[in-house]
Amino acid sequence: MSVAEILFVVAGLLLGLAFQGGMFLFLIPFAVVALVLACMNRPRLAGPNSQQPPTAPIPTIFKKRSTTNNPIITPTLQNEFSNAPRGMANEPEAALKVSQVWARANADINRSMTDMLLALKIVVPHVNSVIVFTQMENQREWGIRNFANDKEISVNLRTRITETSGLLGQLFRSNVNRLLEGDLPGAKSVMYYVDNPAIKSVVAVPMIDHASGLRVGALVMDSVYPNAFNDMTANALKFIASAISMLDYKGFYSAQKHIALQQYGGLYSYLRKFFQNMSVKDIYKQIINYVKANMAYDRLTILAMDPGDDMNGSVVYCDGVDAEQFANKKFTLSDKGVFVLALMRNRPMERSFLPGFKDYLPRLNDSERKNLNLRQILVMPIAAEHGSDTAEIAICLESSSSMPYNDHEKELLKAFAGVAGFAYNRARKFELGCDQAMRDGHTGLINKKTMFEKLRSEKIRADRAKYSIGLLMMDIDHFKHVNDTYGHPIGDVVIKGIADTISKEIRSEIDVVARFGGEEFVVALIDTDADGMIETAERIRKSVEKLVFDVHQAEPLRVTVSIGAFLLTQNFNGDLEKAINNADQALYRAKEGGRNQVVQFEKQESEPVSV
Ligand code: GH3
Ligand code: MG
Ligand code: MG
Repeated sequence: MSVAEILFVVAGLLLGLAFQGGMFLFLIPFAVVALVLACMNRPRLAGPNSQQPPTAPIPTIFKKRSTTNNPIITPTLQNEFSNAPRGMANEPEAALKVSQVWARANADINRSMTDMLLALKIVVPHVNSVIVFTQMENQREWGIRNFANDKEISVNLRTRITETSGLLGQLFRSNVNRLLEGDLPGAKSVMYYVDNPAIKSVVAVPMIDHASGLRVGALVMDSVYPNAFNDMTANALKFIASAISMLDYKGFYSAQKHIALQQYGGLYSYLRKFFQNMSVKDIYKQIINYVKANMAYDRLTILAMDPGDDMNGSVVYCDGVDAEQFANKKFTLSDKGVFVLALMRNRPMERSFLPGFKDYLPRLNDSERKNLNLRQILVMPIAAEHGSDTAEIAICLESSSSMPYNDHEKELLKAFAGVAGFAYNRARKFELGCDQAMRDGHTGLINKKTMFEKLRSEKIRADRAKYSIGLLMMDIDHFKHVNDTYGHPIGDVVIKGIADTISKEIRSEIDVVARFGGEEFVVALIDTDADGMIETAERIRKSVEKLVFDVHQAEPLRVTVSIGAFLLTQNFNGDLEKAINNADQALYRAKEGGRNQVVQFEKQESEPVSV
């Protein structure tokens, strides 16, 4: 066995180990040295007269998409975020720092690559520069990623090689597997130097992407001596180009794996968070936090259907480019935007546009500002129920990057959407359950227990702001007669009709009405005086009086109510039960006074006064 053969075996073993990735990656430079020594078969080690290459530009795949940070939150969600420390929405609590992982992977790869290039430079005689070109973001040009050369010569880092750039451009063609020139006319044919040394020899091979098999760059070696390289050098270069691509691929892959692991680990922690939280609002909040921590975007928009409405929804959150354009915008499912479409069809959607495209795709509808920089769209719907036709929430990511969202990002978001949908469904059912416990199922009004809870908080607010609450206690007149004459079901219809009438006569967002018992109702009129209270009570009484119920008999059914009123002022020194009792006493007087009337409880007089 010759020295060269032994070196080949050693190089093979080292490369084999190095290709396992992980901790063996450091073996690559040693493998390269062994390989080169074997190929050259003349181990003449020159002194180190090379300089450390400057930091090379980061290739596209390592760049995280940029984000801008001025999130706008729908008013209903604002409280959820206002307690967080400033900037929390932009700096998520997850320890994950995707860009740091990429930066470290990139630095590791660069270091190994530099070692390999320096090794080449040392062992191959007469070399001027060794340069690695890799694909630029536009995917049509190669730029200088890394190099090793003599001190006095400076490489032009802004060099771009395209299909048509002379000598090296040939490597774009699939039938060119190497270039070997030994008698170049001058420096013009290589173009990548600032101060044009008279390059006579060039040897270059394409670098092939290990995943796609595509040409993604070149490994180039040059010399100022004519015929400095031979077939053997070209062959050696081919092996090393393959090793460099593998290094790049493995480094990228292991960084991606690392990130994926962290992100799926993060998914698990969100799973726990989701199930510790019960409210739908909490679920929104966790969705926003997760997306911010794990996905890259230039604009993030979150759409949600309005609760209990199958047609209308609004943007609950928007962060990034033109956020104010989208924040709090309303939409209906018939709108033609791609976000709305994904939500309506409950299907993820992706769109990717080439630079300079003209046909803007509306996100919500035609009226929005058209931003043609946002070239990548990924919309992930979240449905409460598996297999449902429409979704309740849509996570809409947009980016100005030339790279579409990759499979990993899509898979991650999809997995998250599944978990979030499940949690959302659970929270919604829980809230619905709470609501059912609070309300009377027949009229939809709150029940007695809830009325007392509401009164308690309203009373605190009223005392602080120094206003009074008008309490009305009402009872349907001769209701037993209604039941006896027309039957219980008609009685129920009457109760519902009166409940609706009361609701219509009060301020829906301010005043409170409850079904207190069988055919009794209590109304709390917030911030009123005695006159206002009586006026409203009279209005309700008259509206009920005008009601007609069609009972399929000659005469339609009419009913009346009696109302007792009590003004709950700040200086009332009893509890809420006492206040309700006062209204009830007034009601008793109204019944006594002949029904279908309003009576106000008067504290000063021992007897309530009829109005
Ligand atoms: P008054 O004018 O004195 O109030 O006479 P009234 O007959 O209405 O007497 P009261 O208020 O004591 O009667 C309540 C009746 O309402 C008794 C009960 O059968 C009936 N009722 C209570 N809850 C319901 C209900 O949910 N549906 C129906 N159909 N009837 C109910
Ligand atoms: Mg009654
Ligand atoms: Mg009654």
